[in-house]
Parts: sequence; C-alpha cells; structure tokens
Amino acid sequence: MHRAVFFDRDDTLIKNIPYLKNEELIEVPPGIREYMSRLKKAGFLLFIVSNQSGVARGLLTPTDVAKVNRILLEKLGRTFFEKIYLSFEGPSQEINWDRKPQPTMLWTAAQEYNLDLKKSFFIGDRLADVLCGRNGGCKTIFIDWGRKDLDAFISRKLATFIAGSLFEAIEMILAPLNR
Ligand SMILES: [Mg+2]
Repeated sequence: MHRAVFFDRDDTLIKNIPYLKNEELIEVPPGIREYMSRLKKAGFLLFIVSNQSGVARGLLTPTDVAKVNRILLEKLGRTFFEKIYLSFEGPSQEINWDRKPQPTMLWTAAQEYNLDLKKSFFIGDRLADVLCGRNGGCKTIFIDWGRKDLDAFISRKLATFIAGSLFEAIEMILAPLNR
C-alpha cells in the first residue's frame, strides 16, 4: 500500500481567487517543485482534492476548472501528481456525496491507488479540509493563515499538526518523527 499526501487547492497550493477561470492569475510559491520532488522521493503519492462549487452555482464550467488545473499542474510539476479529485457540488445541495468534508474523494483515491489512508496526510487551510482528512482517517495539517473566524478556531483544535505555510507543512511530513 502507498502513502499519500492530499493537497487542498485554493489558499493551499495557490492563492484563492474565487471561481478562478483565468489561468494567467495562477501563481504557485517559488521553489515548490523541489518540495514536491522531496515528497515523491520519500515515497508519497500526491493528489489534489478540491471543492469547486462554482460549477453547481453556474459560475464555472467543468471545462473552466480543467483548464485552470492543467496550467496549475504544469507549474507544480505535472509528473509529481497522480490525479486531481474534484467535487462540483454546492453547499446548499440537500445531500453532498463527495464535497469536502465528506471523505468520498479520499476513499476513491484509496481504492484507485491502493492507499493506506492512516499513513497519509491531508494539507489544507479550511475546516472542511481538516474534517475531510479526519473522516478519511488521515493525519491532517492545517495551514494557519491567521484567520480569526470559527472555521480557523476549530481547525486549530482538530488538526493533527498546524503549519504556518505550505512549505512548513511539507517539512512536517518529511520529518521522520511525524510519519
Ligand atoms: Mg482552501
């Protein structure tokens, strides 16, 4: 079985621009490929797990999302990532089947790639990420951008680890004691 690192997309890998369509606005942190390379060398499979409710809201099409993600992967290093899992559901839907914090996308990944979720990590900046990771049985790293809202408050309580940046989160995963 493989270990995985699941990344949230918006405000984790890239700055969140709500309902992002314009791929020219995508900016990844300089030097990020080096970190992805180190995770791969440590034996992790890498995934992106993203809620894109703009589709349910009619503000984005799946094609818009795919176009942005294609450019994103180019910038991050396409070969480092196995797959991007997306939920297009909106929060006001009566039942959410795959939208984070449901662990559905993690379960799908676990099945498709033979993952050991208990030895895997979820990195994200929202409570939905921390809960999704927890619900799937992963260790969770909350990227704390210093928000003062309830979402951030509960995330700090529930996450396995708290990091001040994406790179700090990745260093925590690479630290042998945390694995
Ligand atoms: Mg986010």
